[in-house]
Amino acid sequence: MTGSAAVGVLVPAAGLGVRLGPGLPKALRELAGEPLLLHAVRGLRAAPSVGPVVVAAPVDEVGAVRALLADLDVLVVAGGAERQDSVRLALAELPAAVGLVLVHDAARCLTPVAVVEAVVAALRAGADAVVPVVPVADTVKQVAGARVVATLDRAVLRAVQTPQGFRRDVLEQAHASGTVARTDDAGLVEALGVAVTTVPGADEAFKITRPLDLLLAEALLAMTGPGKHGGRRAR
Ligand code: C5P
Repeated sequence: MTGSAAVGVLVPAAGLGVRLGPGLPKALRELAGEPLLLHAVRGLRAAPSVGPVVVAAPVDEVGAVRALLADLDVLVVAGGAERQDSVRLALAELPAAVGLVLVHDAARCLTPVAVVEAVVAALRAGADAVVPVVPVADTVKQVAGARVVATLDRAVLRAVQTPQGFRRDVLEQAHASGTVARTDDAGLVEALGVAVTTVPGADEAFKITRPLDLLLAEALLAMTGPGKHGGRRAR
């Protein structure tokens, strides 16, 4: 059934982006002269597998986001207080024909098409849940206040990106479960005891969080041009 199921994408884009500093909500900050969200949705639209797209916009910016994305055939809904709320609200608007769901942070606006397609391919091959991952470059320590409690084995750690992919029924069950996972959807699914599969992510799929990330993204776009980032391969 999942082999031919339509693929829908939910784009939580309702965050304020406080860590970027004062200004517009993060999704509307400009990158190479265009809002970050426009880069993100254009990148998704370049992926052959992607069907219906639902964007969760900041509550006060729903009209502006609809106008911004008018040519890209997306549904725009108001997001919620937390990322998980925004995803749940967008999920409720997905057309019935969608059997496979990707959840993609607007802030990962330079994600290569190859990563999107790799996640879909793993779902079509039978996975219930899929996350793109990259190795961790830093040594990661667990702390309690200012004190180090443990040093984690970097070799078994992965940094997790988006899009994360799910069978629709699995994601719906996870969001109805009452579990709280503030930073990703796979965390909710893991809490159900469902296996989550990994596929290779890509450096370009980094999340724009701090001002330095904007500089890096501008530099990447200057090398490849707007709308061209989709061509790079996942590693
Ligand atoms: O805050 P963080 O960087 O983890 O946010 C990840 C994504 O979740 C961003 O694209 C952001 O716009 C989105 N988000 C949301 N609704 C919120 C908070 C964050 O859609 N209430």
